[in-house]
Parts: sequence; C-alpha cells; structure tokens
Amino acid sequence: MAQLGGTPILILKEGTERRKGREAQSGNIAAAKAVAESVRTTLGPKGMDKMIVDSMGDVTITNDGVTILKEMDIEHPAAKMMVEVAETQDDEVGDGTTTAVIFAGELLKGAEELIDQEIHPTVIAKGYKMASNKSKEILKDLAKDVSVDDRELLKKIAMTAIAGRGSEDKGNIAGLCVDATISVAEESDGELRCDTDKISVIKKVGGKVDDSELIEGMIIDKERVHSRMPKKIENAKISLLNDAIEVEKTEVSAEIQIKSPEQMQAFLDEEDKMLKEMVNKITSVGVNVLFCQKGIDDLAQHYLAKEGVLATRRVKKSDMEKLSRAIGAKTVTNIKDLSEKDLGKAGLVEERKVSGDSLIFVEKCKNPKSVSILLRGATDHVVNELERGVHDSLRVVGTVLEDGKFLPGGGAPETELSLRLREYASTVGGREQLAIESFAKALEVTPITLAENTGLDPIDVLVEMRSSHEKGNKSYGLDIYTGKAKDMLEEGVIEPLRIKTQAISAASEVATMILCIDDVISSKGGGPGAGGMPPGGMPPGGMPPGGMGGMGEED
Ligand code: ADP
Ligand code: MG
Repeated sequence: MAQLGGTPILILKEGTERRKGREAQSGNIAAAKAVAESVRTTLGPKGMDKMIVDSMGDVTITNDGVTILKEMDIEHPAAKMMVEVAETQDDEVGDGTTTAVIFAGELLKGAEELIDQEIHPTVIAKGYKMASNKSKEILKDLAKDVSVDDRELLKKIAMTAIAGRGSEDKGNIAGLCVDATISVAEESDGELRCDTDKISVIKKVGGKVDDSELIEGMIIDKERVHSRMPKKIENAKISLLNDAIEVEKTEVSAEIQIKSPEQMQAFLDEEDKMLKEMVNKITSVGVNVLFCQKGIDDLAQHYLAKEGVLATRRVKKSDMEKLSRAIGAKTVTNIKDLSEKDLGKAGLVEERKVSGDSLIFVEKCKNPKSVSILLRGATDHVVNELERGVHDSLRVVGTVLEDGKFLPGGGAPETELSLRLREYASTVGGREQLAIESFAKALEVTPITLAENTGLDPIDVLVEMRSSHEKGNKSYGLDIYTGKAKDMLEEGVIEPLRIKTQAISAASEVATMILCIDDVISSKGGGPGAGGMPPGGMPPGGMPPGGMGGMGEED
C-alpha cells in the first residue's frame, strides 16, 4: 500500500475485509477440508447416507457426493470451489464425485504439512502437477479394454456405479442401464458416442425395484384426452404435432353482433367445421396416434375419438424430441403441412395404469434412438435414490463405451499409483519430491476411507493392500465383504478409466488453485458470492510470491 506524507492511501472501499498470507491460506484450506470431511462417510457401497432437509422442508436421502454438496448450500468461496470439483466430475463422467472431493481435501491436508515445513506453495503446485501427469500415464498402463459386445463386463461396471444406492439387488437395474446405453450409442467418425440424455428415466412409486423395466421406445407421463379413444393401438402411425387443434381466437378484441338464432348457429357450425377439417386432415394421412404439444379442443377430441385416434395433448417439448428419435417422426408445426412422410411408427402404443397413474407406452419401435427406463420402488426416497444410481450407471457405461477402457475399483488403482509415485518421487529429488510423496500419500485416502466406512481397521487394510501390490498384484483392492485384499477384476468391481483420470486431475487442479491464494479481499455485505475468489495474483498490494516466508510470525 502506498503512503503519502504518513497518510495511508485507501484503495479499497470502506468495510472491505481482507485476509492475507498464511491466514488466508489456512482459512481456505480449512474450509475445503471441511467439505471433503462432510462427504467422507458416504464413500463406497457400505457408505452411510445423508439426510438433507432444505429450507422448504423437503427431504433428500442420498450418498451421492455431488447431490449432497449441491443441496448443502455452501457459502465459503473456497468450499464452493470444492463443490465445483464434484460438479465437473459429474458433468464429465457422471460418477466418482465423492472420490474426487475427498482426494482434493487430502491433497490440501498434505500441502498444509509441507507449508509448515517452509515449502513454498508454487513448489508444491509443481510437484502436484508432475504427480498428476505421471498418474495418468500409470493408469493408462493399468487400464484394460472393453468392447460394446461384452455385455457381462459392462453390467459389472454398471453394478459398481450403482452399488449402495436405494436397494440391495441391482443386477436387474444394471442390466437395464447397459441395454439402454447400448441402444442410444451411435457411431460418428469411427468413434462411439453415447448421449445418455436420450434415455428418459420415469419414476413411479409402487411395486418393487425389480419391477423396473426398459422400454424400447418411450413412456409419456400423460393420458388419452378422451375416454372414448382406444387404449391400445397396434402398428401405430404416429404424428407429432406442435400446433393447436383449436379455433384460433383473434388477437385484436373484435365484437361480433349476432342478431338471430340462425346466425348464432351458423357461427358455431363454422367453428365446428374448422375443427372437423383439422381432424380430417390428420386422419387422411393415416394417423392413428397423435402426440400434440399444444391443446386439443373438446370438440376435436370428440371427433378424434370417433375416428379411433389415440391422442394426448400438452406433451413436453423434451418428450417430443425423444419421441421423434424413438419412432423416427418429424414434428410438424402446422397441421396444413402434415403429410405421411412426417409420421413415425411403433409396434404398439398403449395406455397402461402404473400404480394408479395412466402412462402412455410407445413400444416395439424399430431401431429406436431413444429409450425409457421405468423405475419402481416402495417409496419416494427409494425411487429418487435409485434414479441417482441409475444416472451414475448410465453415464459410467456410456463413458466406458466411448473410451473402451476400464480399471479395477475398490481402491486398487489408488494403491498402485501411490506405490509407483513414491518410486517416481525418488527419481525427481529436490523439494518437488516431497510434494509428489505427499500426493502419493493422499491417494491412499480412497482405500483408507473404504475400509473405515466398512467398519474395518484402515491401517490393517492399507498394509495388506500395499503388500499385495508390492508383489505385483496390481488389481488387488478391498473386498468389503471379507476385509481382505482381493483381485477386483475377478470380483467384478470395475470402473471406467476416465473416473480416475478425471478425479485426479480435477482434484489436483483445484487443490493447487486454493493453495496458491494468499490474499482474500471480500467486499462488505456483498455476500460470499460477491467476494468471489479471483485466483492468482491480486493487483492491490498483492503479496509477491517471494514475500511469503516470514508472514506467519510477523502478523
Ligand atoms: P463416488 O461418488 O466417488 O462414486 P461411491 O460412494 O460411489 O463414491 O464409491 C465409489 C468407490 O467405491 C470406488 O472407489 C469404488 O471402486 C468402490 N466400490 C464400489 N463397489 C465396491 C465393492 N463392491 N467393493 C469394493 N469397493 C467398491
Ligand atoms: Mg459412485
């Protein structure tokens, strides 16, 4: 801060809060570690659940890392950065969110110890970067190949992702997830792409989890508009219409003077005629099922019912898009333009009651590019948690199909990486060596936490895991049922390679970013968001990196 004739020049607004040096650093690290700590007990299939009650009193019960953190309403800016780790992980892979956050917390814990030994954050950052890059190489070597034909293997991957969510037996659900993902996989430029948004997941409380099913087509959460319409249509010719089957009201308020009953009748007849024409247009091209995104007039409903058409109205836009892919139809925006080539086909369209609600099933579609999963379960909470599990599972299968690579789970890759990184550290030497060693130690948080959450002694587990990896058993991880180290490939506990590479790089990037902040300036009353956290250099009076050393004692 500059000073003129003894008067300090204020460059910040009055009331601005500012924390510098070690104080800022340890505050941020503590907040980030607290976030990691908060999800720690949920890791793994035996992890505990959290019950989160929001300000409206809505209850969420889950052990999904990203869901917990999103629901928690976190305020501290550094803690928010940890939530972002989970969100990025969720966007990129769809699973491994808890792992990523816990690892980032552990990296910061290690960094704190190094800072106490007077190792500068930039050195730690460099060491972490080297370790993260090396980890990717090692993981690539460890990874095994999987192809789209290997359904059993894909099912195991789906099962690992869904383990511990909602219900015990997931074989059935995992199978549905694999089949659904495979049906939406598309090849483009020689690469497989799996857009799991094309899979719609419909939840209906009631029945058992095992009653969940995959529909080779779509389920629309709507019922027929008219009770006289048929409930079931085979060999359906389906029209998707984004136009109202109603008589348009004039935009300007016009007044029509009707002087005699005949005129009134003529007026009504005209409306009637227009609606009838619209219905005729629809049936003339052979439509027997109609999904309308807008409204259908009562009279038109009656005519459609008379013609034996099954129709629904106000179908969601997203459902229309998925329907279009499932049945190969084109959405038409003006009835007048409707022609036979816009129609889609399905072997069966049927309205069925599921737990008292009517749903329309569009099934037996030829080569559908959109499919649906109908999830069942005893209560809302079971079904919601199952849905989160299914989301992870679909994304994980999609990821592994796209990349074609998987790894053993149960802490196996982390243990292997930890050993190999320690070897690598000794070849690097210098202060970076300490940072790489700290990174290696942080990786062991996965097997340690899995052991803790299973009620095992983490030290015993770690020792056993390390010794089996030293003997060359690279895929040995924690068998949560016996507490022993076992071959995870044989146990079928397997995960996509991308879960680990993404978790490691996201966690180490965020940890370094938090580490390298030595000045926090937050404006008063701006709320935690306003203070934001511009990472890196801060212009006013920002501490030059070299000036860090003695900070602690001087304050
Ligand atoms: P995340 O949000 O990180 O995916 P999870 O609660 O899903 O957290 O736990 C994932 C961890 O649990 C991974 O390390 C995975 O390998 C491990 N895991 C999953 N199933 C098993 C199992 N049957 N035995 C041992 N470890 C398992
Ligand atoms: Mg998971």
